[in-house]
Amino acid sequence: MNKELKELEKYALEKNIPIMQKETVTYIKKLIKTYNIENILEIGTAIGYSAISFALVNENIKITSVEKDQARFIQAVKNVKKFKLSDRIELVFNNALEISLNKKYDLIVIDAAKAKNTDLFQKFQTNLKKGGVIITDNIEFHGLVGKSKTIPGRNLRNLVRKIENYVDYLKYNKNYKTVFLSIGDGISVSKKRD
Ligand code: MG
Repeated sequence: MNKELKELEKYALEKNIPIMQKETVTYIKKLIKTYNIENILEIGTAIGYSAISFALVNENIKITSVEKDQARFIQAVKNVKKFKLSDRIELVFNNALEISLNKKYDLIVIDAAKAKNTDLFQKFQTNLKKGGVIITDNIEFHGLVGKSKTIPGRNLRNLVRKIENYVDYLKYNKNYKTVFLSIGDGISVSKKRD
């Protein structure tokens, strides 16, 4: 594995920054190859680890990635430069719910504020190409999703409940075919129906 990517992993671990689990990155990279995906939108850059990993699949890939935390955004800019990917990874510093994008993407990855999954899905589905896919990370949330009733802490219970509601939203959304996979912290893969 790429030595610089390993360093990013180490940095994230030390600073307690949640980056995408390796297993999840591997799955998405495979999907990018299988479907010849070229245009990706990522909500939740963190320090750029996943965006950089996706961009390294091949040189045709272009990524827009949005991050609302300034410290993380600055770190992501540094990392993208280090990998010489500034021409293919566009980083946006803003709350994703506040921006509007005109471009259409083959793949949208939602890995941001977990309580906002439904809002983010609804907003950015207009930026999805026909036959495109929306992947959401942390859909099992440390195995807590489906068990919100047993969580004593109110804040955590509310957050988990929101993820549970999002799971239902995806299950009953007839415009998409969604599968839920126990990869990493759990992901949903929603393919837009024609
Ligand atoms: Mg995540």
